[in-house]
Amino acid sequence: MASRYLEEVRHRVVVFDGAMGTNIQARKLKKQDFLDGKEGWNESLVLTRPDVIANIHESFLAAGCDVLETNTFGANRLKLGEYGHGTADDVRRINLAAAQLARHCADKFAAPDRPRFVAGAVGPTGMLPSTDDPELGGISFDQLADIFAEQAQPLVEGGCDLLLIETSQDMLEVKAAVAGFRQCFRAVGRSLPIQAQVTLDVTQRMLLGTDIGAAMTTLEALRVDVIGLNCSTGPREMRDPVRFLCEHSRRPVSVIPNAGIPENRDGQAVYPETPADFARHLGEFVAEFGVNVVGGCCGTTPEHLRAVVEVLARVRPKKRELA
Ligand SMILES: [Zn+2]
Repeated sequence: MASRYLEEVRHRVVVFDGAMGTNIQARKLKKQDFLDGKEGWNESLVLTRPDVIANIHESFLAAGCDVLETNTFGANRLKLGEYGHGTADDVRRINLAAAQLARHCADKFAAPDRPRFVAGAVGPTGMLPSTDDPELGGISFDQLADIFAEQAQPLVEGGCDLLLIETSQDMLEVKAAVAGFRQCFRAVGRSLPIQAQVTLDVTQRMLLGTDIGAAMTTLEALRVDVIGLNCSTGPREMRDPVRFLCEHSRRPVSVIPNAGIPENRDGQAVYPETPADFARHLGEFVAEFGVNVVGGCCGTTPEHLRAVVEVLARVRPKKRELA
């Protein structure tokens, strides 16, 4: 099925939004803003304070971003279960509300020649199925795939344009997510593009030691539409793996770094990369390597993304042969 999102990715550099978590924190919400008073439970805000989430979405659209991520990073049954809301009904209610909210905001800013997209954001479950850790490894592939299918369905039905598995630590979990997404596509009778992003630490490896070459091979074998990196480090630390992906893969590549590596200042995590520096790095990735999708992860503000949009207007992307 033709996808407008993939069409755009092939023809120009597409810009994702910035951080959800750190921008929620910056709004200094109170305990009672969260469902059941569970402070810090960001996913619940689509039910209790949709105005706050809509305001963050719109701040990024106003900055010139093309793609919103739904506020559903931890909206799977295992993570929601940690807050006492892990039923099928809870998963459906939260993901559907988040997708519809992001869709509504995106459509407000969209024009026929300037579409705005919604990515259904799916984060890790917290399990590490590749390990033999008695707790974290204690889940089967099929159980995990079902968990991802359950989260994906309301995201698709709520109007997302693509599904994004992000901040991935364990390649077996990524496989289960992709299997779950496809299970969901069969159930609803239509499919969306899949974007998959892994997270590398400063040693350029995933949590369980996988390097970018191995991750790329797995993602390509899974026939994921867009492959990339997000979170953990800033753009500087991503330079080598980004170059590797662009030189060795013919898939579109996405790069969504943090605003640098957080520094601990008086017990507060402070992200040091300025909008200008952040944007300059991403501009270089586009010009030198041919990155197709950029955006911001933890610590990035609308100012960071506005700077990215401005830099990209002056950059000539390196042409890469896409499959
Ligand atoms: Zn992040």
